[in-house]
Amino acid sequence: MQRRIYDEDHEAFRDVVKEFLRRYATNERAEQWNRDGEIDRQTILAAGEQGIIGLSVPEQFGGAGMIGDYRFRAVVNEETIRAGLGSLAGTFGVHEDLAVPYLVHFGTEEQQQKWLPKMASGEALGALAMTEPGAGSDLRGATTTAKKVDGGYLVNGAKTFISNGKTADVVVTFVKTGEGNRAGDFSLVVIEHGMEGFEHGKKLDKMGFHGQDTAELSFSDVFVPEANLLGGREGLGFVQLMQNLPLERLSIGVCAAAAAQAGFEWTLEYTSNRTAFGQAVADFQNSRFRLADMATTVEAMWAYVDQAMDLYSRGELTADDAAKLKFWCTEREWEVLDAGVQLHGGYGYITEYPITRAFLDARVHRIYGGSNEVMREIVARAVTGRK
Ligand SMILES: Cc1cc2nc3c(=O)[nH]c(=O)nc-3n(C[C@H](O)[C@H](O)[C@H](O)COP(=O)(O)OP(=O)(O)OC[C@H]3O[C@@H](n4cnc5c(N)ncnc54)[C@H](O)[C@@H]3O)c2cc1C
Repeated sequence: MQRRIYDEDHEAFRDVVKEFLRRYATNERAEQWNRDGEIDRQTILAAGEQGIIGLSVPEQFGGAGMIGDYRFRAVVNEETIRAGLGSLAGTFGVHEDLAVPYLVHFGTEEQQQKWLPKMASGEALGALAMTEPGAGSDLRGATTTAKKVDGGYLVNGAKTFISNGKTADVVVTFVKTGEGNRAGDFSLVVIEHGMEGFEHGKKLDKMGFHGQDTAELSFSDVFVPEANLLGGREGLGFVQLMQNLPLERLSIGVCAAAAAQAGFEWTLEYTSNRTAFGQAVADFQNSRFRLADMATTVEAMWAYVDQAMDLYSRGELTADDAAKLKFWCTEREWEVLDAGVQLHGGYGYITEYPITRAFLDARVHRIYGGSNEVMREIVARAVTGRK
């Protein structure tokens, strides 16, 4: 089914992304990222220079000014994932969809001027730190505190599972500025690499996304100047998160569809070339039916994702729309990639193959960005009207 969401500007941009990947994301580099557990800064800087990142940063701060139009970001996700580079897509995604938008939407003029130009150029990489060792789904259980002191805050506590956590320069961090655990007791502050008392713990050894760093962070009497309180007012943390989480979930939905699409293409190619019992694996009736199912599921995913991108661009994608999209797409992604692994036979278990890496990467899509159980809770609340 023909997708109608893109126009010639998006297709021209697709060529730019492909060229960027051809030049900067060679197999040798990707292997190095996997060994290092992070994307090197040169690649991030090159992405800034080529306009692959900074898409939603306003033009006056050196970006492309595309906030609200997710289609250019979707093109980056599609092409990067199709190239088998989930970790690069993930690193860009956290920077672009989880960190930059907080500064674009809620940053004061001074905060925007300080960080956005560097975030557009790749000089500063972003992360979003909400999750703590004792509080993930239930963010009201967060215990990282920011106590008011002269000229700023002293931050104490720990975060875990933070994507880009080790390599980020700018960490939008969810902290408790109040005494209780009501929404108004939490705020977002920007914690910068190099601030005294801010340490990166170990990089976590994960099932997938081996080239993207995911780290523990610790804060021990970190002095954060008042100027780093996002939006300049205390107590807005929850409201700010709630406003941006639909974008994070849309972004995961797009990546899920892109991975399913790529998984289908890799599987079609593999089964067309692999023979068993004197014929191509693709010609067994079972393979034909599985490929037909995969292709149809991928098209349904795109139809849903494209509709969500359109609503997002109109400012009409609701929190429950985004929750539905996130859980439904990531579960379809899992089914499609699992079928792809199966049709690759033993090679589907060998991580040299892109289908295997995509399958391992995909597992976390059902866990992060709000687990799929929490997504169903949001949807259930909306459709039943019951808490
Ligand atoms: C690779 C990776 C990258 C990540 N990146 C980031 C990041 O950049 N920034 C960040 O802040 N966090 C990040 N996370 C954290 C992620 O968002 C959390 O792991 C996730 O929200 C779940 O929280 P938890 O691990 O504490 O699990 P828990 O909240 O302890 O959940 C455990 C289980 O209980 C279920 N559950 C919880 N509440 C309910 C409920 N109300 N109803 C039904 N079931 C429920 C969950 O669905 C899950 O199955 C990342 C995690 C991983 C693994």
